[in-house]
Amino acid sequence: NFILAIESSCDDTSAAVLCNDKVLSNVVATQHIHEQYGGVVPELASRAHQQNIVPVVHQALAKANIDKKHLSAIAFTRGPGLMGSLLVGTSFAKSLALGLGIPLIEVNHMQAHILAHFIKDENQTSPSFPFLAMTLSGGHTQIVQVNANFDMEILGQTLDDAVGEAFDKSAKLLGLPYPGGPLIDKYAQEGNPKAFPFPKPKVDGLNFSFSGLKTSILYFVQKKVRENPRFIEENLNDICASIQFTILEILMDKLKLAVKQTGIKQITIGGGVAANSGIRARLKEAENSLGWKTYTPKFEYCTDNAAMIGIVGYLKFLEKDFAAQNIAAKARYTL
Ligand code: ATP
Ligand code: FE
Repeated sequence: NFILAIESSCDDTSAAVLCNDKVLSNVVATQHIHEQYGGVVPELASRAHQQNIVPVVHQALAKANIDKKHLSAIAFTRGPGLMGSLLVGTSFAKSLALGLGIPLIEVNHMQAHILAHFIKDENQTSPSFPFLAMTLSGGHTQIVQVNANFDMEILGQTLDDAVGEAFDKSAKLLGLPYPGGPLIDKYAQEGNPKAFPFPKPKVDGLNFSFSGLKTSILYFVQKKVRENPRFIEENLNDICASIQFTILEILMDKLKLAVKQTGIKQITIGGGVAANSGIRARLKEAENSLGWKTYTPKFEYCTDNAAMIGIVGYLKFLEKDFAAQNIAAKARYTL
């Protein structure tokens, strides 16, 4: 079975072709227009999707060397995401499925970040059920208990900012360009994580909060810059390492609590922040010290991509779980 998958929930237009659970192509057009605004501008995102969608789908089919006549189904991101962005992918997927006379499959983007682990690839191994999935992205921070492909329970999530936002907003306070997460990661590798201690929020249970951290970084930076205008540039590595360390401590504390509460020691991470070198190192460490088994997806399946939409499409295709032609995008769409 050949599945064409389309992702357009935020600021990446992506299309992929899968042959069953293997990825034949995964094309991503990242919209750089948002960088100058320091964040995604929804109106510009939907316009860019509109321009990108046809060429991106063409490229995905060409790279996979598959003619659209041979497609078995079309999977698309129904939500959650920006409505204007979702509408582009949704409408395109519906039209193409109608034109080709093949089934349409709706996919929850957050479920896809989790099920990306089931893409068959020599560079990644898949967990077995049940496992705990920590979703770390620009819009979400969740710990999910996954009992089966489509049996997921959210155990905890952020009450305010997502972890990706915590990275990006902290980076912005340091004058770094958007998205700053990868840059904090880069500078952190040369810095001392204990140089500047930031307080961890006190949140009960398995929920997260990151807005307080942002505020304490803001006050800290303002105070230091008043004393020394060159403070940020002179200490960039140490500041980034300290911010990253605090975020990782918050994440690891909650994961440990989730393992304690559920007795499940298989952990997966997904979402853009799963690309962070620090979280990857901490999980490796936990394999040795805590006996966990951890799984991190290949980098290209961490950030927004259509291959992860395609694997969910394939799993739903097997169950003949098809969508009706009158299906609508959903900006808010829980697991
Ligand atoms: P959602 O999936 O919730 O809709 P999104 O699609 O915007 O959100 P992703 O594309 O999954 O989010 O992830 C983007 C986020 O990942 C950004 O906040 C970015 O800064 C962050 N990120 C990417 N690489 C790294 C890294 N190495 N270290 C820290 N953060 C990173
Ligand atoms: Fe995402």
